[in-house]
Amino acid sequence: MSLRTKILVYGVGIAMVALAVLGTLLIQAHKDTYVEEAELRARTFLAVLAVETTGYLASNQIEVLDGVLSTLMERNMELLDIQFVAVVDPDGHVVGHTEQWRYGALADDPFSVEAGDARQSLVRVTTRNGKDTLMVSEPVVSSVPGQRGIRWGTAIAGIGLDRVQSNLSDLIFKAMATTLLVIVLTAMLAALFLSRHVVRPVKSLTTAASGFAAGDLSTRAKVTSRDELAELSLTFNNMAEHIQANTVRLEDEVRERNRELESANERLKELATTDGLTGLYNFRHFEDVLQMEIRRSQRIPVPLSLLMIDVDHFKQFNDEHGHPEGDKVLRILATLIRERVRATDIPCRYGGEEFTVILPGTSRTDASMLAEILRDRVEKHPFAGEEDQPKGRLTISIGVATFPDQAVDEIELVREADKAMYEAKKAGRNRVKTARSKRTGESHEG
Ligand code: GH3
Ligand code: MG
Ligand code: MG
Repeated sequence: MSLRTKILVYGVGIAMVALAVLGTLLIQAHKDTYVEEAELRARTFLAVLAVETTGYLASNQIEVLDGVLSTLMERNMELLDIQFVAVVDPDGHVVGHTEQWRYGALADDPFSVEAGDARQSLVRVTTRNGKDTLMVSEPVVSSVPGQRGIRWGTAIAGIGLDRVQSNLSDLIFKAMATTLLVIVLTAMLAALFLSRHVVRPVKSLTTAASGFAAGDLSTRAKVTSRDELAELSLTFNNMAEHIQANTVRLEDEVRERNRELESANERLKELATTDGLTGLYNFRHFEDVLQMEIRRSQRIPVPLSLLMIDVDHFKQFNDEHGHPEGDKVLRILATLIRERVRATDIPCRYGGEEFTVILPGTSRTDASMLAEILRDRVEKHPFAGEEDQPKGRLTISIGVATFPDQAVDEIELVREADKAMYEAKKAGRNRVKTARSKRTGESHEG
């Protein structure tokens, strides 16, 4: 059940109970007034009648009295709600009655019996012929100033309460209709008030809270009044403001940390794949790339060549000039190789004073040509201290092997390039040798 319905149900319920209590009290008050008014009417009538009756009773003119009563009934007695009028003598005999057949009979109904003995006027509500009737009696007494009056009988009248009851029914109906109207109007006004001052702000707050929970941190509740609900909305908005500011700050921090992590990862990756001395790729990266490139060459298919480079008499250079000088030479050699190969080629330090270059998409002939260019470059480069080397120059020997001509996989390719490099050494160093062709069995000097 929504808040609006609950408040309306409670409000209407309370209004109905209050109006029902008020209505009942009002109806009771009206009923008493109606009955009192009927009683007054009857008494007045009987008082007048008693005066006229006294004479007839005192002079024993009973028939005249009965005639008077009959005439009375022919007049329009309904206007006074008088059902009957009777006069009873002190013995209890009916000596006059508007219902003529009762004339002469003994009045034996409880009210008439009691009224005949009573010195004063009596009033009772009884049921007569199935209808609520107000019975009123008035002693018929001759009054002589200064003397106690002689009682000649009792005048009795029955007043029908039908009109009182129908007036009451009208009143009840009008009261109910008014009550209903008031309730409907109250309900409408309450609904209007609730909708504007309670439901609308609560809905706005609920919508804002749902939006916020769904992730829209910029959502805010509307504040249109200055009551407690407005205070609640303002508190929510303040809270949302803080959370949004904190979230933005946290997101900035996380972004910054991510950037730092990414660059640290880059650096780590670089360190993991790079040789510290020369800046070329290291042996591990060489193995990974070679395996990957062989697979690619198998798929496409294109040739792939490998250069195996070894420095000639390097032990001697180290012995003569020391390891730090040897390291310098290794760095210069790395630069000479890197500068001359293409961006797609992969120059690596294989280990010690040995280098390799993976040449994707390169034929045996092109690889031999490149190897020769590198050898020539190194031979012509003026290395400090090279004059102490055999033949006065620092040189390299290169073995070349090509997939798939001379090897079926990366292991065989490395082995074949290595073999060709040792052949170059055997042949006198400072030269290029290609691996033996599987078909012809001959090797080629570059
Ligand atoms: P060869 O012509 O037969 O290749 O003779 P070589 O002296 O170069 O060959 P050998 O295998 O006997 O010696 C290789 C030398 O390379 C041994 C070592 O002093 C040197 N070497 C290996 N790694 C490094 C290095 O990182 N720095 C320096 N400075 N020297 C190294
Ligand atoms: Mg070596
Ligand atoms: Mg060597």
